[in-house]
Amino acid sequence: MELCDLSAYELAALIRKREVSAVEALESTLKRIEQVEGRNGSLDAGAITPEDEKKVHAFITQTEEIARAQAEAVDQKIAAGEIPGPLAGVPYTVKDIFNVKGTLSTAGSKILNNYTAPYTATPVERMQKAGAVMVGKVNLDEFTHGSSSESSAYQPAPRNPWDPSKVPGGSSGGSTAAVAAGMGQISLGTDTGGSIRQPAAFCGVVGLKPTYGRVSRYGLIAFGSSLDCPGPVTRNVTDAALALNAIAGRDPRDSTAVTVPVPDYTATLEAGVKGLRIGLSPDFFKIQYFDHETGEMKEEPISDEIKRGVEEAADRLSEMGARIVENVPMPHTKYGIPTYFVISRVEVASNLHRFDGVKYGHRTEVPVDDLREMYRRTRAEGFGAQPKLRILMGMYVSAAQYSEQYYQRALKVRSLIRSDFDAIYDPDGDYRLDALLTPATPTPAFGFGDVYGDTVLMQYADQFTVTANHAGVPGLSLMGGLSKDRLPLGLQLLGRDYDEATLLRIGRAFEIATEDAAWRKEKPAVLQGL
Ligand code: GLN
Repeated sequence: MELCDLSAYELAALIRKREVSAVEALESTLKRIEQVEGRNGSLDAGAITPEDEKKVHAFITQTEEIARAQAEAVDQKIAAGEIPGPLAGVPYTVKDIFNVKGTLSTAGSKILNNYTAPYTATPVERMQKAGAVMVGKVNLDEFTHGSSSESSAYQPAPRNPWDPSKVPGGSSGGSTAAVAAGMGQISLGTDTGGSIRQPAAFCGVVGLKPTYGRVSRYGLIAFGSSLDCPGPVTRNVTDAALALNAIAGRDPRDSTAVTVPVPDYTATLEAGVKGLRIGLSPDFFKIQYFDHETGEMKEEPISDEIKRGVEEAADRLSEMGARIVENVPMPHTKYGIPTYFVISRVEVASNLHRFDGVKYGHRTEVPVDDLREMYRRTRAEGFGAQPKLRILMGMYVSAAQYSEQYYQRALKVRSLIRSDFDAIYDPDGDYRLDALLTPATPTPAFGFGDVYGDTVLMQYADQFTVTANHAGVPGLSLMGGLSKDRLPLGLQLLGRDYDEATLLRIGRAFEIATEDAAWRKEKPAVLQGL
């Protein structure tokens, strides 16, 4: 076992005890990057070669110099007898949607191809304070618009370490691919409709979308400001708790970052599930969508293997003393995606106005006579297909004559979605749940090009994750098994506001219950033979 394959908590403990240095841990990670990364994403990648198809391509920018300086600083602190942070010496990566001072911060878009951030996002600053060592900025769908990471302007796009012919999911696909392949123990991602949980499920790692406001959004390049949640991607639940400890909490620079006290998320991890009430909802065991030809609501079953994985997880948790509550109604789940289509587009159309070629980022080189022409050309050249589509739709559904019909209505449906969660967690209600157990995704990872280009189909990869963003509640996704094709099967736990601790505790209990399962011993394809 290489140092880069240890969990964050094991590695941090070894470093604190001086059995391993932070620099050695970094060397191990850099060696792994050398072995599996292939080419970092770039704007002028040219054709994708057969060799490229075997590699992971998680990064846009590697930050070896920063990493060395941070690792050396940790080792010096330890040598001087100072107490290093709880993540001292742990290598991590950052989705390229976070501003990190002095680094290229692209959001996966050509429009930011020359943008060096002048400041650092709060979650990244907090990882630094905890002693973690940043090895690079990782690839993502452009402006986080997607569920496969294929829409990045920086190619080759990341690939799934379990099977590089499959996508890693998205939009935090660089984060989850990096963590699964041993390129950093932790990655910071963001989740607006599922972008941490869905790729975590595809890559067999742990992804945590905290409650809205639990982690500051300061320094994040915004997508949907009422939905965006930064959070950690890790290889196990304990590491997710450690990472959340580091990044959660109020921030005077983000007025939506809440002042609710932050517990020590590791304190209750091993408390078990005895007496907890965990729900299963039939509304999370089918895909529901509107047929655009007929306007009717249609249904499709989810993957059998995923369904069985969730049922088996429920059995394990029940054996450990949880009370499984079946047939929990979540009737507005089916409106999650259409509602998201409207709300996220309105918010992103507004947020993307700032990219105009004036203050930073790409500006057209075509000579122009007036300002409007400069804006128009800059944005036409700089944005890819997804942001363009989304801006158009957002402008349309919020326009004065349509707002009532679409945007105002979507906001009402959003509160109905929230009311589903209020009802199941109500301590005096019929269900009194501590958490809801669902599939994270309807299918395992899909192939490159299989869904890409079909925006509607692509979005249905998020049907089970998106309602948590509407409602603001936390969600944890974790591996629940392997398919017969050796692809990870994802589980999701949804919880009450600010109760990440219970989700982590249930997740940890599931890890203990499945410690000896055959699939736990399996490794991603790209790591075999290393
Ligand atoms: N896949 C969704 C989208 O394309 C969610 C993305 C996200 O969570 N950032 O909008």
